[in-house]
Amino acid sequence: MLKCSECGKSIDEKEALVQGKGNDKRIICPDCFQKATGVDYKTFAYRKENAKMTIFAVLFCLIGTVYAFVERGPLYGLLGIVLTVLVYLFSSKAK
Ligand SMILES: [Zn+2]
Repeated sequence: MLKCSECGKSIDEKEALVQGKGNDKRIICPDCFQKATGVDYKTFAYRKENAKMTIFAVLFCLIGTVYAFVERGPLYGLLGIVLTVLVYLFSSKAK
């Protein structure tokens, strides 16, 4: 069991959120996290996961774009760029 640096509540190790390093290390419970940031931790984790997915999707499109550009010519490359931008916009709006 760990103790929250904010409210002193005992929390489970897997629920604890650690911020900072070394002597500045603070352990924060999900409740205090929500109070401090205005988002609950699950939403936060979801957004983080979502951002990761966006990066993967955009990277995938970029690779496809380069491939299309090399294999099919500039027009397809341009299409790839448009598609990449669309994917990026769509995934950042999907939150
Ligand atoms: Zn707390």
